[in-house]
Amino acid sequence: MNLIDRPCPHCSSVHTNPIAVYSKELWKIVSCAECEFVYLHNAPDYDTLQNNFEWEASSKAERSLRRKDKKLYYFFSDTLKQIKFFFRKGQRKEIMILENLKLSGKTIDVGCGDGFTLSQMPIGFTPFGVEISKPLAKLANERCSERGGYVINADAVNGLKQFSQNFADLIIMRSYLEHEINPLEVLRSAEYCLKSNGVILIKVPNFASVNRKIKGIKWPGFRFPDHVNYFTPQSLVNMIESASLSVDRFNFLDRIPTSDNMWMLVGKPKA
Ligand SMILES: [Zn+2]
Repeated sequence: MNLIDRPCPHCSSVHTNPIAVYSKELWKIVSCAECEFVYLHNAPDYDTLQNNFEWEASSKAERSLRRKDKKLYYFFSDTLKQIKFFFRKGQRKEIMILENLKLSGKTIDVGCGDGFTLSQMPIGFTPFGVEISKPLAKLANERCSERGGYVINADAVNGLKQFSQNFADLIIMRSYLEHEINPLEVLRSAEYCLKSNGVILIKVPNFASVNRKIKGIKWPGFRFPDHVNYFTPQSLVNMIESASLSVDRFNFLDRIPTSDNMWMLVGKPKA
């Protein structure tokens, strides 16, 4: 396993304040001394991620262990999810947001996994993706090619560079940016690929959530070492602006502190 000691993913400072209470075994959570961004200091590099599928297996094992530990909590949490799902008439939240936006066109899902989200896109979207895992990229490519798109097997920075300027109407980063060791560089590449009226849809865990404050290191948002960035509403806004992008929508319900996750719509700055 190759581990790299990262400078701050937002401002590149090498000065850090350790957060001992959230560090586990060899994994060190730190806060940047300059901009206060919270991140995993020592993270696996792209080669390790690409060639080692222990991460997928280890995070699955951790999830099932948590479920056994906290049966009652997960019972309520699952029930609440089902109720929300019922009120959304069975639609996934991202699909609902997209339908409200009345968007269509070329869509790039960054970190698209097996292409499931892309395969659920409404008619009118042509699905494209970038995925670092070879077997998942192959599966996703089969799904996308049925609808006129394709998937690039690469890390996100290099994958996005293979699309032309102003290519995408929509870029999806759902449960992805928290895994990315170079989030600012990826957002800059996304800015290049995005059309002037295009939209980036982001979903990340909210480090400022009430649940994190109550549960501490047992908060489900902590996953060692696959979550490498821990965004708060403010640090997410800061990073978007540093990538020359602008926040289009980030209302109270998108970042409600009782939820473990937050959603954001991002675009290019309007002239
Ligand atoms: Zn910083």
